[in-house]
Amino acid sequence: MKIARWISSALLLVILCGVLLLTLTPSLERWPIASPQPAPAPGQVALTYLGTSTILISDGTTHLLTDGYFSRVSIPQLLFSRLQPDEPRIDQALKAAGITSLDAQLVLHSHFDHAMDVAVVAQKTGAQLLGSASTAMVGRGGGLPESRITTIETHHPYQFGQFTVQFVPASHVPLPAAVEAMTGKGDIPAPVVPPARVGAWEEGHSYGVVISHPNGSVLIQGSSGAVTGALDAYQADYALLASASLGKQTDHYQQAFMEETAKAVGAHTVIPVHWDDFFSELTPDVKPLPWGLDNMHDSFHALADRHEGDFLVLPPFQRFTLRAQSQSESGQ
Ligand SMILES: [Zn+2]
Repeated sequence: MKIARWISSALLLVILCGVLLLTLTPSLERWPIASPQPAPAPGQVALTYLGTSTILISDGTTHLLTDGYFSRVSIPQLLFSRLQPDEPRIDQALKAAGITSLDAQLVLHSHFDHAMDVAVVAQKTGAQLLGSASTAMVGRGGGLPESRITTIETHHPYQFGQFTVQFVPASHVPLPAAVEAMTGKGDIPAPVVPPARVGAWEEGHSYGVVISHPNGSVLIQGSSGAVTGALDAYQADYALLASASLGKQTDHYQQAFMEETAKAVGAHTVIPVHWDDFFSELTPDVKPLPWGLDNMHDSFHALADRHEGDFLVLPPFQRFTLRAQSQSESGQ
């Protein structure tokens, strides 16, 4: 009887600890946060962070979006139900971000937290969908016509207005084996028709994307993994780098990741992305991932401590105007 009581108390304690680890989150307070800026002048390039590695890039005329994940399913939904895009949430996020039309949607890999909403977002905004053969399967499953789907070639320049977009090979940050098994690491073999289990949105190929414009250039890595030499021929003023799980990797891994991304392109500013709790709705004051999923401070230090320039956190929905390399060099 005593043993049974002891076991049930221990079990309760374990459950309580688990709930706390998935509820309590680190604070952004000690990190530099971008201040609100005046509206960009015509032709200037502005970024808007929209959670995970979803970023709006616009010069006022041409509008690009990486990924486009707004459904942000909860952990219980992820574990126990079949997933599908949440249209009210997508509409709400697009409205809050001021997105009415998009020229292109650039998908960095095909896991649910990057690609699940792409077909709905592309349908609503008129975007051309660009990504891997797996991402193309997500587009097809969501009813997007073939003419709106581009299976990308790495290093190929795609032109949208004054933006040149080039996908470069990257890799996915290592995940615990159980998570990797659940989320899927292979290619997507057939159109994904929602609702489906989370594993239907397999990773496919992972990419970084370099977006160049006369008024500024950015590198965006949707996961903390790089391929040696992939970015050697590129330049970017800003490196937007996924931070989730980077703090859990070895010092050698973190060093190589920074050398093959921010340093390779000569970025003056590193901006972390994919730090937010993407199991909750996106709000301007969204919390970082809870302690049980990532130690954000370790992940941010892995980026900030290895970078000689600026490190800046962008709050969701707040527009941030780029300053080009030439402007920063001349002190403007
Ligand atoms: Zn992923």
